[in-house]
Amino acid sequence: MSSPESTVHTYHCICSQLVLASTSTLESLKIRTSDSSHILPLPNLSSTSSTSHYASLANTIADSKPTIIRCEDGFEKRYFHKCSRCELSVGYSLDKSQFEDTKTSSGPREDVAFLLPGGLISTEDMKAGKDMDAEIAKVGIKAA
Ligand SMILES: [Zn+2]
Repeated sequence: MSSPESTVHTYHCICSQLVLASTSTLESLKIRTSDSSHILPLPNLSSTSSTSHYASLANTIADSKPTIIRCEDGFEKRYFHKCSRCELSVGYSLDKSQFEDTKTSSGPREDVAFLLPGGLISTEDMKAGKDMDAEIAKVGIKAA
């Protein structure tokens, strides 16, 4: 299961816009327990550390203002990343104040992003014409 660098996996928004390229598959990412989102480490471009993991969000627009989310254990500040085409939120960054080591800072933490569950489709699945309607239903185009 570990052949880093060889393959870049690409993922699409449910509207088919390419939004993520990563050497890690979604399935291999750790899951955040509070909301089941996928934890995506984003390589720090200015660091020279030689990690084989590569990931990049593409065609997404990051919110400049945080959204306050109420959680079981308090509140958290999220900066949503929205698909540039359909404006669906595909993931979010957390505010620096949410992390122990950057507690006194604010602004989006840039070395990790969280991908919302059910919002992304792999290129392989899309090509295979996987049941898009089911995927859309899962993401919740809310029934009135
Ligand atoms: Zn979209």
